[in-house]
Amino acid sequence: MDLQAPPIAVATPAADARSLAESILRKLLFDLGKSQQGAQRRDWFMAAALATRDQVMERWLGGSRSAYNSQAKQVYYLSLEFLIGRLLRDTITNLGIADQLRDALDILGVPFDEVRSAEPDAALGNGGLGRLAACFMESLASLGIPAFGYGIRYDHGLFRQQIMGGWQREVPEDWLTFGNPWEFARPEIAHEIGFGGNITVIDGRDGPRQVWQPGEIIQAVAYDTPIIGWRGRHVNTLRLWSARASDPLSLEAFNHGDHVGALADQVRQEAISKVLYPGDETPAGQELRLRQEYFFASAALQDLVRRHIRVHGDLHSLPDRVAIQLNDTHPAIAVAELMRICVDLHGLSWEEGWRITQGAISYTNHTLLPEALESWPVPLMERLLPRHMQIIYLINAHHLDAVAARHPGNDALLASVSLIGEGHARRVRMGHLAFVGSHKVNGVSALHSNLLKQTVFHDFNMLFPGRIVNKTNGITFRRWLHQANPGLTSLLREAVGERVLDDPQALELLRPLADDAAFQQRFMAVKHANKAALAANIRAALELKIDPGAMFDVQIKRIHEYKRQLLNILEAVALYDAMRDSPTQSFAPRVKIFAGKAAASYHRAKLIIKLAHDVGRVINADPVLRDRLKLVFLPNYNVSAAEVIVPAADLSEQISTAGMEASGTGNMKLALNGALTMGTLDGANVEILEHVGAENIHIFGKTTPEVAEHRADGIRGQAAVDASPRLAQVLEAIRSGVFSPDDPGRYHGLVDDLLNTDHFLVLADFDSYYEAQRAADARWNEPQAWARAAILNTANLGWFSADRTIAEYAEDIWKVSPVI
Ligand SMILES: *Cc1c(COP(=O)(O)O)cnc(C)c1O
Repeated sequence: MDLQAPPIAVATPAADARSLAESILRKLLFDLGKSQQGAQRRDWFMAAALATRDQVMERWLGGSRSAYNSQAKQVYYLSLEFLIGRLLRDTITNLGIADQLRDALDILGVPFDEVRSAEPDAALGNGGLGRLAACFMESLASLGIPAFGYGIRYDHGLFRQQIMGGWQREVPEDWLTFGNPWEFARPEIAHEIGFGGNITVIDGRDGPRQVWQPGEIIQAVAYDTPIIGWRGRHVNTLRLWSARASDPLSLEAFNHGDHVGALADQVRQEAISKVLYPGDETPAGQELRLRQEYFFASAALQDLVRRHIRVHGDLHSLPDRVAIQLNDTHPAIAVAELMRICVDLHGLSWEEGWRITQGAISYTNHTLLPEALESWPVPLMERLLPRHMQIIYLINAHHLDAVAARHPGNDALLASVSLIGEGHARRVRMGHLAFVGSHKVNGVSALHSNLLKQTVFHDFNMLFPGRIVNKTNGITFRRWLHQANPGLTSLLREAVGERVLDDPQALELLRPLADDAAFQQRFMAVKHANKAALAANIRAALELKIDPGAMFDVQIKRIHEYKRQLLNILEAVALYDAMRDSPTQSFAPRVKIFAGKAAASYHRAKLIIKLAHDVGRVINADPVLRDRLKLVFLPNYNVSAAEVIVPAADLSEQISTAGMEASGTGNMKLALNGALTMGTLDGANVEILEHVGAENIHIFGKTTPEVAEHRADGIRGQAAVDASPRLAQVLEAIRSGVFSPDDPGRYHGLVDDLLNTDHFLVLADFDSYYEAQRAADARWNEPQAWARAAILNTANLGWFSADRTIAEYAEDIWKVSPVI
């Protein structure tokens, strides 16, 4: 060996089109083992992604090193869900090499869009909560805030939705089948996660110490994905954990010929990271789910504690250097786990452990729905996490002592704020655990944060005033405007300047253009082109022809009774009746577009999907309407579908029962892309109203206090029907089987529930909704008025950038600053 040889330097390959083309071919040949002739679409995608990834590595590793050396405070975002979608376009846009990559693929004779659409969606989430985590990761990187996302690398993400005869069918999703070019397996980064077993007390230096001896140990293995920020300035890491059996094979059993039994333990242990729980806002209530929660929370804490100690020596400075955000209560067990690490493993006092835990952790609440407030049976906790159960009891004892000292004799208060629910089966209340273990607790819209203070955390708010704060959700404009809507983005750049790419508030400069007829035309021309593209998609998917000149009236989100897709379907039926009864009235021509998945076990939601199909079949086939009304259900809603539907929407349906949608983010995506909101005063709709102005939004329905009053009065749905012949006719048609001649009784239960209870006020809000829809019709019939309002929506949505949200978290909760 020649010791005099100069060191070998490796540089990031050039990113001009020719170099990228060469790099892609190299990947195809040397990494994938494919010839140019034999390459399939997904081979090209893999090769393009690998070539793109090369552009990130130096910045990623360099950035991590400098954050590490600068000892900057780190954010750790713990989320059981990351609904990422595709990453190719995101990565090349943020790196600023989108044109070069397109040209490179042109040189190679493969269309970019074909390559792009070969990427499977990373669907490691159910809906808004998971998508928020993904937007936050992108925003953290764009703002240059050092951060790790921690979650689970599910082998199977959210199910694929197929529609068979109008019914939803769930098909397993296989995003990893052909490999994931964005991730790096780090088999050397593994933490041991214990379950079960028992606790022994040993004599420690400062008295007795509790030692947990788990009955079972599973490895959490890291998989890292670089998350690149806007203009490539900073790159963070999304670290997802995969379960690996500690003892993969029982050789003894294998050698005795029991080949399946020898693998049984491995299969059971590795089940932890097999599937995402498809429960959307309902507790899965299953042991595996609790195992998932502890698995990733423990892996995350072990990982960050090890990193912290390597740099800072001990745990005392943790709250100064580390901010741990719990995305909902799924990672709430982290409170007990961090206490265990401090007290049992590092020998700190209880008080010091508590100071560290509370100082580092904060918690985001995402729901007020009672059925979604997570709790675990005490016996299950005792069996699975015996030491954590002890710690939770101890935390509770300290907490209740303090409360009792301040409010002597108030047993009702103690019961209400206890970490243990004392119903007929005792349960650990994870929201309470997260609350007491955090220095800040936030809601996700102004209304939601206020309701938190008034309802689920009323007593906590009294005991800990100032702990609850609001952080209204946001969305990343890079994905939801610049990438999803390149036509609008180039118009905006031309109209208000390049600044708009970096500063969402620059959108305000559009305001004066809202009255400019020429600009209105160009704005609506972009919208029309996006609608034509969606119409082509719909035609290809459903063999249904729709008119891009009609109003695209869009409701895309999980199917849930509180989100009231049913209200929208009832209105479709009413409109259908009205169009037939009064052919001369000037209804706007409409295409009602639905998309969304129902949780597999949520039968009522699945029936609503079926109803949408039943109603659509009748309406779409009726020649009397002359194509003035269509109803479309697009299957398998996911991030990539949203990226096509959102830029094409004219009207955004955000019609949840007031007080029930924590924030919504779909509402922001759609308004940003120039859709007018048809909404209730719920979640962030309230703030959208404040920003766009009352004349540029359609608000209807009962307010939160009115909903509460209505329910308290016990008013049945029948009352609304008695007052509304129109509504009576709609329900009668559905109930009698007009839309389900094959099974006339199909909707009896559904309609009877509405008449008898109407818990979500579908009937109570119907007339108000119908009126608001007709006001939207009237506006549609004045194209300039519509265009003006659409422009003003885009112009006034800057505040809903996730960059604003993250900057608020950074300042008020995390106390971190950017490193760039
Ligand atoms: C934004 C988004 C959501 C959240 O939609 P809401 O209307 O806020 O419920 C859900 N799923 C996907 C795929 C999204 O992109």
